[in-house]
Amino acid sequence: MKVFLRRLSRDIPDRNRPSVVPAGLMISDSNTPLSPAAPAVRPHLLGLTREQLAAWAVERGFARLHALTLWHEIHQKGRTTFTPRDRMPPRFLQRVDEELAQDRPTVAKETHSSDGFTRKYLLALADGRLVETVLMRYHGRTTACVSSQVGCAMGCTFCATGQMGYVRHLTAAEIVAQALHVDAVLRETAPSTEGPPTSAPALAKPEHPSAFHRHERLRNIVFMGMGEPLHNYDAVMQAVDILREPSGLAMAGERLTVSTVGVVPGIRRLAREGRPVSLAVSLHGATQEERATLVPAARRWPLDELMDACREYTAITGRRIFFEWTLIDGRNDRVEDARAVAALLRGIPAQVNLIPLNPTGGYDGRPGGVEGARRFQDTLKAAGIPSTVRQRRGIDIAAGCGQLAVG
Ligand code: SF4
Repeated sequence: MKVFLRRLSRDIPDRNRPSVVPAGLMISDSNTPLSPAAPAVRPHLLGLTREQLAAWAVERGFARLHALTLWHEIHQKGRTTFTPRDRMPPRFLQRVDEELAQDRPTVAKETHSSDGFTRKYLLALADGRLVETVLMRYHGRTTACVSSQVGCAMGCTFCATGQMGYVRHLTAAEIVAQALHVDAVLRETAPSTEGPPTSAPALAKPEHPSAFHRHERLRNIVFMGMGEPLHNYDAVMQAVDILREPSGLAMAGERLTVSTVGVVPGIRRLAREGRPVSLAVSLHGATQEERATLVPAARRWPLDELMDACREYTAITGRRIFFEWTLIDGRNDRVEDARAVAALLRGIPAQVNLIPLNPTGGYDGRPGGVEGARRFQDTLKAAGIPSTVRQRRGIDIAAGCGQLAVG
């Protein structure tokens, strides 16, 4: 372990040499101080809340209004460059340039699913690291799946990100930039033949060249991309605060979903801090033994501890939890597995999201079938637990759950 951590810190300044901690070797509480710091030395403009930017401006003798204008232009209007004609004085803009980093991730590669509903962006960060961000459209909604880390330390066996190991946390600015990028894509999507956005069908026909509509806005953000969000708690919550800001992207709390593989301290902290986000907990196994084989983090935070934290979360917040269950054929998709889930979730306001396993190179399980999913759902329903079977989207471009990874 020490050897890996030494190697990790030694490698950070070298942008050309990958520094990866193999999966499962760095499982610790959220925001471990052992995690390498963000690459930017200067504070980043995108990583400041509206009030933080206003305070920054006032401290330097500028009018609060200038900061609020700048913040609005970036987060509401999607602007990336500014001139004095934008109702902000040159001195103010110059000071922003001098003191605040403003780099944005660049698109290294863009892929579209064959049905037109999913787009995946490989984004290059300022230090050359790569992450993936996915834009999905279904049921008339647009959703961004954003990454919170480069790689992941949790090592879930069926997940491509887990298989690549952990590299570093993303900063709040890098997370916000992903959402802004997707929002900009939606605004700029070339006019299609499908008519104005207000008449957009719930699901565009697959043969259409684009399932997206000009001037559409981002509706939902899920922190289900690369990385474990609660392992990078501070940056993720800073990003959440920025994304919820009414004069920015204005994401209502329930339209922001933070997922976790079961980082118990993070769940308890989220409950105490009271941010109105949706919480999704990945279960995948209903006994400690079974779960630990799929989710190594379960050894650090055992199932009974996790369920205690979930009960505490729902009691404090009054919100239900979404439990994610990857259906693996013959492994955890049997009726007895569904019964075990029902028993585990008894008394917890919950919804179960069933996700047929998506293929990854490092895991040879097969996805649970339609019939198995239906039986699973029926069993949960009989126990009074609502559930959905997730639509599989973007599998042909490896943009589905558990498939994100960079080489
Ligand atoms: S499923 Fe999530 S927590 Fe598990 S390894 Fe993949 S990215 Fe990390």
